Amino acid sequence: MRPGGKWFWASGILRMKPRLNVQWNEIYCKRCILCVEICPEQVLFLEKDEIMEKPGCIRCYQCESYCPDIAIEVMDQEEKHTV
Ligand code: SF4
Ligand code: SF4
Repeated sequence: MRPGGKWFWASGILRMKPRLNVQWNEIYCKRCILCVEICPEQVLFLEKDEIMEKPGCIRCYQCESYCPDIAIEVMDQEEKHTV
């Protein structure tokens, strides 16, 4: 997780939406789908204008590392949500 990540998550203004292993910022995201294309397990997808995640993430952090807009972040294990 990036420094300040928890603060970002706590801020309602920035709207981080939890998925399974990642959280996604609908305001910062420009829907470039780079994260979708770079994910080695192909678990990310764009649906109804939102980045979604299906099971299978290996927590490689590539989506977080390559996102040009700091719009996706791998959550700490203890933050993990189930859907
Ligand atoms: S790489 Fe970042 S900006 Fe691009 S679609 Fe993914 S989350 Fe959005
Ligand atoms: S951490 Fe790796 S496996 Fe998980 S969603 Fe991001 S790119 Fe895909």
